Amino acid sequence: MQFNPRYPLLSPKLFHHQMPVPLKGAKAGHFNTALADELQWSDEDKAQWVEICSGQKTFAEFETLAMVYAGHQFGQWAGQLGDGRGLLIGQILDKNNQTIDLHLKGAGSTPYSRMGDGRAVLRSVIREYLAGHALNALGIASSNAVGFTSSTQGIQREKMEPGAMMLRTSDCHIRFGHFEWINQYQPELLPEFVEKCIEWHYPECLEAEQPVLAFATKVIQRTAVMIAKWQLVGFAHGVMNTDNLNITGSTLDFGPYGFMERFRPNWINNHSDYQGRYTYQQQPSIGHWNLWTWLNNLIPLVKDPAEKEQFKENLSKCLEHFEKTFLEYYTLGLCQKMGLPSFHKDSFDCGMAFLRILQAEQLDYTDSFIRLQNKAYTALRDDCLDTRQFDAFLSQYQAIRENQATDELDAEMTKANPQYILRNHMAQKAIELAEQDDFSEVERLFKLLSQPYSKQTDIEQPEDLGPLPSDVPEVMVSCSS
Ligand code: AMP
Ligand code: MG
Repeated sequence: MQFNPRYPLLSPKLFHHQMPVPLKGAKAGHFNTALADELQWSDEDKAQWVEICSGQKTFAEFETLAMVYAGHQFGQWAGQLGDGRGLLIGQILDKNNQTIDLHLKGAGSTPYSRMGDGRAVLRSVIREYLAGHALNALGIASSNAVGFTSSTQGIQREKMEPGAMMLRTSDCHIRFGHFEWINQYQPELLPEFVEKCIEWHYPECLEAEQPVLAFATKVIQRTAVMIAKWQLVGFAHGVMNTDNLNITGSTLDFGPYGFMERFRPNWINNHSDYQGRYTYQQQPSIGHWNLWTWLNNLIPLVKDPAEKEQFKENLSKCLEHFEKTFLEYYTLGLCQKMGLPSFHKDSFDCGMAFLRILQAEQLDYTDSFIRLQNKAYTALRDDCLDTRQFDAFLSQYQAIRENQATDELDAEMTKANPQYILRNHMAQKAIELAEQDDFSEVERLFKLLSQPYSKQTDIEQPEDLGPLPSDVPEVMVSCSS
């Protein structure tokens, strides 16, 4: 590994040095060799992956630390938060010379643990491990993980569960909540912090006339693109608090996430989200709200009252990029999924008509697009109660595609419609086996989700292809992790 320790260069007020506390009886869970290669792990590093991913081995090149931050949780100011159970154990260069954080989740308590035990259970570790891998393979910016370990140590949640640790990777662990913490508790740190964020994550903005505005615009655009991509694959993050969104627009901290099966825009995967703040359909507006909250934390950078008003106005203008970028990406993506030309005036409406059918008929989001892609129109129609609505859609759809370069449109479809997503019941089966020390299902899903856009008849199982029958109770996903 090639270390590039840069977070420790910040004011020590922003973190606390802390060593991981290993769990008893650590054992191998799963290792992502391809990612380790990407991160330039040596053979020696790879041979020690279990020790590294269980907190038994740390590195002389990096003094491990917990970050402090704050945040708005479910729309309310939550005050100081921070890494309560995860530690930054390294910052290393990948093959492209990009700095990647190594963050060990479940590594024991820190000064920011509040009431928590500093641990993570195998169930939530496997869910995050597989989902991060799935999102990356789907082409959505997200944290990932080099590996995870299980243990013989029981951790109390609703019931006793095996404790586990995961070595998460991300291009950035700086959250919107970092800025909120600084303004609330150490406002004098803001200018240098912002400068470092730009230097590390958006160096191209240093050349702009107003680097802070250029930086804000980039963060807004990347967040909008990330959320548009979530919407297109039916991903619901579950806890879009300001402490769970980072400044590079790569998906982070998705605890009670879910990939939507039957199309229900008001679907809540997180059963602890009683008000439905983080439903699938709310994600774009919550993203906007979080960015607005974040932008407010840049205002103190300008001290002169006369300039401040102008600066506020400029920041509001930056925020206008959110909707524009989101709609641009979402519209284009939906047209690709539908196999419709994005320049045609009726394509987007036709996509919406298809979604209305999926909603009314409670059809599976992923599978329905695959059927459309396979031109299995009869099968789709047969699953509809309102066949008139389907027929009207199909004639509009075929009319738009008439005289178009359908070969090209069809090729676009295969790149935009995953054959496989991580359904809750798939993850659940892998978890139940892993709790018996059988990681074969984790391995199978890991492989399947590595190439979500390609049909893999050799390893797929019938349950991978659709929701469980509607009379089978859904897997309940709680916030506990
Ligand atoms: P989350 O909503 O899962 O991102 O967590 C919110 C905050 O609670 C973060 O600061 C976490 O570090 C902290 N936290 C969550 N679970 C635990 C735990 N078991 N022990 C200590 N801190 C935790
Ligand atoms: Mg979090």
